[in-house]
Amino acid sequence: MTLFHKIIQREIPADIVYEDEHLIAFRDIAPQAPVHVLFVPKATYATLNDVPADAPEIVGRLAVAAAAYARAQGFAEDGYRIVMNCNGDGGQTVFQIHLHLLAGAPLGRFGTPDGARPAQL
Ligand code: 5GP
Repeated sequence: MTLFHKIIQREIPADIVYEDEHLIAFRDIAPQAPVHVLFVPKATYATLNDVPADAPEIVGRLAVAAAAYARAQGFAEDGYRIVMNCNGDGGQTVFQIHLHLLAGAPLGRFGTPDGARPAQL
């Protein structure tokens, strides 16, 4: 069972901001922006690679819930970023899929750590 399943099961505490039958959302313990909330499906998938092609709603619900949260909190018009990290190069550390919602300040560009523009593959 992953850390996030333990949060879903209330075995470890978290600052939960939203929950429904499909997903849960709680504040990241190490925020990377003034608002940093994780949206996690209750169905178990280790990475985005594991989501079946015939179940796009698993991912879609996370994004729609994040947008609804942004509207409800009043920062939707200012803007926000959603991110899903996958495996090693993506920087994934918890192997239950989740979507990061980052907001609350201009977030700048993203990509390589030093901001250099890499050669395209
Ligand atoms: P990943 O790196 O897998 O995309 O994101 C995992 C996120 O989970 C990280 O941003 C990390 O700060 C967060 N995290 C790790 N442990 C905990 C925890 O115990 N509680 C909460 N709320 N977030 C956690």
